[in-house]
Amino acid sequence: MNIDTQNIMKTYNRKSIVFEKGQGVWLFDDQGEKYLDFVSGVAVNCLGHSHPTFVNEMQKQVAKLTHVSNLYWTKEQVTLGKRLCNLSNLSSAFFCNSGTEALETALKIAKKHGQSIASDKNKVIVMEKAFHGRTIGALSLTFNNKYKDPFGSLLTDIVAVPINDITALKQIMDEKVCAVVIEPIQGEGGIYSLDASYLKASKDLCESNNALLVFDEVQCGMGRSGHVFAHQKKNIQPDVLCLAKGLGAGMPIGAVLVNQKADVLVAGDHGSTFGGNSLASCAGNIVLDHITKASFLEQVNESSAYLKEKLEQLNDSYDFLVEVRGEGLMLGLETKYLSKDIVSLAMDEKLLLIGAGEKTVRIIPPLVITNVEIDIFIEKFEKILNKLIEHKD
Ligand SMILES: *Cc1c(COP(=O)(O)O)cnc(C)c1O
Repeated sequence: MNIDTQNIMKTYNRKSIVFEKGQGVWLFDDQGEKYLDFVSGVAVNCLGHSHPTFVNEMQKQVAKLTHVSNLYWTKEQVTLGKRLCNLSNLSSAFFCNSGTEALETALKIAKKHGQSIASDKNKVIVMEKAFHGRTIGALSLTFNNKYKDPFGSLLTDIVAVPINDITALKQIMDEKVCAVVIEPIQGEGGIYSLDASYLKASKDLCESNNALLVFDEVQCGMGRSGHVFAHQKKNIQPDVLCLAKGLGAGMPIGAVLVNQKADVLVAGDHGSTFGGNSLASCAGNIVLDHITKASFLEQVNESSAYLKEKLEQLNDSYDFLVEVRGEGLMLGLETKYLSKDIVSLAMDEKLLLIGAGEKTVRIIPPLVITNVEIDIFIEKFEKILNKLIEHKD
C-alpha cells in the first residue's frame, strides 16, 4: 500500500487495501486486484457498486440540485418521505445522515413523549447484544461495554434485557418506561432474529404502559431481510422506525418514521443541516424504485434460500461450524473460531467478509447478487475453511 495515512485518526482497524472502483458485487484496488464484496459497505451497497440506474439518476440530480437546507422544501425529500410512510404504514418522516443520528432522533422522540406524561417517564429498555450507534445517546443504548467503557458516564435510565425472553421484559416494564428499542434482526451483535411472539409481547407491553415501540432497522431494513422492512414479516407495527445504511445505497442518509402517537417533535425541537437533501433523497428514491418491485425481493429471497442451503451444507461438513442464522441476505455463520481470523484468511482469497459478535461471520452481499456469484463465494469460502483447519492444527 503506497499512500500516507498518518493524518487520519486511528478509529478503525483497517486492512491495507486502497479501493479505486467497484462494479456490481466486485471491488478493484489500486493494484488492479479484484475482490468479491460480501460486506457491501456494511449492508449499505444494496444495489452493488456503480449500478447503471443509480449512476445515471444521481448524475442527473447532481446537475440539477444537491442541497438547499431544510429551510425550504424539495420534491425529492417530500417524495421519499411519502413513499417510506406508505410502505411502513407510518405517517411522518424525519431525515438525517446516518444510523446513529436516526437513533438519537428516536431517543429525543421517546424522551419528549415521556415528558408529556410524567417527569420521571425516562426509562428506555434495550436488548442485550444490541448495537445502535456511536454518538453518546445511541452508544448508551448499545450493549457491548467495549464500545462504552472508554467514555465514562453515559445516559442513565437504560436497562438491557435478554432477547426473546418475554418474562424478563414483563418484569422490567412499568409506567416509567418511555420506549423499548429493538433491532428485529440484530446485526453487529451476531445476527439474531427476534421472534414474532416477542415483538408482539413488546408491542402489547408498550401499549399498556404508554411507551413507544422503536424498531432499529438501520441494518435489517430496506429489503435486506427479504421484505422491505424486517418487521413486516413478523407483522408487528412499531411506533417509531429507524432506517439508514441501505436507504441511500452509498449516499449518507438516515430516516425516522413515526405514527401519530410518536409525531411529537415540533419546530425548534430537532434538525439537521444536510438531512434528506435532494441528492441523498434522490438516492433513497432510486433504492425504493428497485426494492419495491416484487421481482426484486423475490430475487433476494431466492438468493437467500440458495445461499442458506449452501451454508447449511458447509455447516454439516465442518465440525467447527456451529450454526447458520438470519433472514434474507442478512445471514450469519457462527463458528468455534474468532471471526476476525476468518476475515483475515478471506482477504487472501480476495473475498471481503465482516464478523458479527466474536465468532459469527456476517454474510451481507449486495442484494443484486446472482447464484453464479454465490457459487464463487462458496468456492472461496470452502478454501478458507480448509486453510483454517491447517492454521489451527
Ligand atoms: C450500523 C448501525 C447503526 C449505526 O449506524 P451509523 O450509520 O454507523 O451511525 C445503528 N443501528 C444499527 C442496527 C446498525 O446496524
